[in-house]
Amino acid sequence: MRLAGKICARCRNFIPDDPPTPGERLCAKCRSPEIHRIYMYYMYRTDWMCQFLEEDLKTPLPRRFHFQSPEKIRAIVEKVGNFADLQDRQALDYGLETGRGGVWLQLTEEQYKHLKTVR
Ligand SMILES: [Zn+2]
Repeated sequence: MRLAGKICARCRNFIPDDPPTPGERLCAKCRSPEIHRIYMYYMYRTDWMCQFLEEDLKTPLPRRFHFQSPEKIRAIVEKVGNFADLQDRQALDYGLETGRGGVWLQLTEEQYKHLKTVR
């Protein structure tokens, strides 16, 4: 239930919206309004590319990143990953091994704005 996004990861209350987006998340009471929940999708081609989606998993954010090293992706997840959950960590290890994956991130208003802006 918690991992399916149906109950709050902190207070365990049911989250009433429909349809629920997958992954751990917080209810309206527990989440602060300035925190944005976004999904980071990463893939290895000639380098590691990271793309970001809004919580609806449909709307892409304009900013993309390219990294030579997967450790940069790990560093992002360490910083803004979803509760640093063990399962998230294992999924990340697996994704970096196989060359693609995705992870939920919690961003502050400032970090979120940064992704909305293309340099
Ligand atoms: Zn809650």
